[in-house]
Amino acid sequence: MHDLNLPQQFLRLLKPRLQEMLGILRQFVTAESPSLEKAAADHCCGLIGQEWWKQDVRVERIAQKHRGDFLRVTHSRNGRGVTGQLLVLGHYDTVYSTGTLAKMPFRIAGGKAYGPGTFDMKAGIVQALFALQALRQSNAAVHKRILFLWTSDEEIGSESSRKLIEAEARRSDAVFVLEPSLGPRGLLKTARKGVGDAELIVHGRASHAGLAPQEGINAIHELAGQIARIESWNNLRRGVTINADIVEGGTRTNVIAERARAVLDLRALTISDMRKLEHRLRALRPIHKGARLEISGGFDRPPLERKASAALFARAKSLAKQMKLSLGECTAGGGSDGNLTAALGVPTLDGLGAVGDGAHSSNEHVLINAMPVRAALLAALLATC
Ligand SMILES: [Zn+2]
Repeated sequence: MHDLNLPQQFLRLLKPRLQEMLGILRQFVTAESPSLEKAAADHCCGLIGQEWWKQDVRVERIAQKHRGDFLRVTHSRNGRGVTGQLLVLGHYDTVYSTGTLAKMPFRIAGGKAYGPGTFDMKAGIVQALFALQALRQSNAAVHKRILFLWTSDEEIGSESSRKLIEAEARRSDAVFVLEPSLGPRGLLKTARKGVGDAELIVHGRASHAGLAPQEGINAIHELAGQIARIESWNNLRRGVTINADIVEGGTRTNVIAERARAVLDLRALTISDMRKLEHRLRALRPIHKGARLEISGGFDRPPLERKASAALFARAKSLAKQMKLSLGECTAGGGSDGNLTAALGVPTLDGLGAVGDGAHSSNEHVLINAMPVRAALLAALLATC
């Protein structure tokens, strides 16, 4: 086997195990795990935990009050000669409520495995499981502790898991995020927009639209003016977008509107653009005399800037090349937990999970032949970082 380079060795170990990988994927997917349904999520957490238990690693189940429990799995080669930590990060919650399986069953057809959460991102967890097995089987020298963290609230903003993710990231030399890759060629996500939302409330003054229009301050007119101003901040080329996606206000046609509000979606590719956008929002002043503005919110997940991924991506690309795989990269318009770790200055590579399509849709699926390949790539990264 020593005529093969390391990624090829892993691939040779993993390719024959595709059926086992699919068996475990089936188990994980048929245990539905919506972010907001704790009992169901906990059941899925138990199944995932069991598979890791079998690997002779330390598995801790971190109990959560409102969300599914988290799993922290530690692989440490006898604890000797180990310096530093690598964090492998993912979530097992899905956006599908329980019962979705009835309409969208787990099935394998035409080289694809379909089902809720296959792509985002249960296949990623399966790949990590087999990457670990390949590492152990190959006796590759792993110099760092490897920590696998499986959380349950990524799809709803990671409010419960954020502290833990950040604490483990701070202890780590690199973070590998097993979110789905992009497109049929499985592009890694080397940059992600930061994402947030803000609320703009306008307070005006109500008055009879016919009898005393001069007494009124129309909150809707004020809001319309503010939205026009905000719209001009969009800069698609720089990756800055701000969109008013919910608006409401007013009560009756003959009453000058006293109150109006807009909820804004905020996105930016760089931390400096994020700060600029937040600053501009806070600096908004009324256009109509007597109107008052109330602004809250901001970015929840800062941007994952490409510089946080560049070195790891170069390594991944060269390891992939050893398997005769040409690895590409892309920028994602949405955030993940990788945004949180990159913002701490910890090198982060995202989109290392499954290859497939249709996340959050009835067509969600993974390409099954890519599973051993991506698992081998992860194993190679873990063995060489
Ligand atoms: Zn995801």
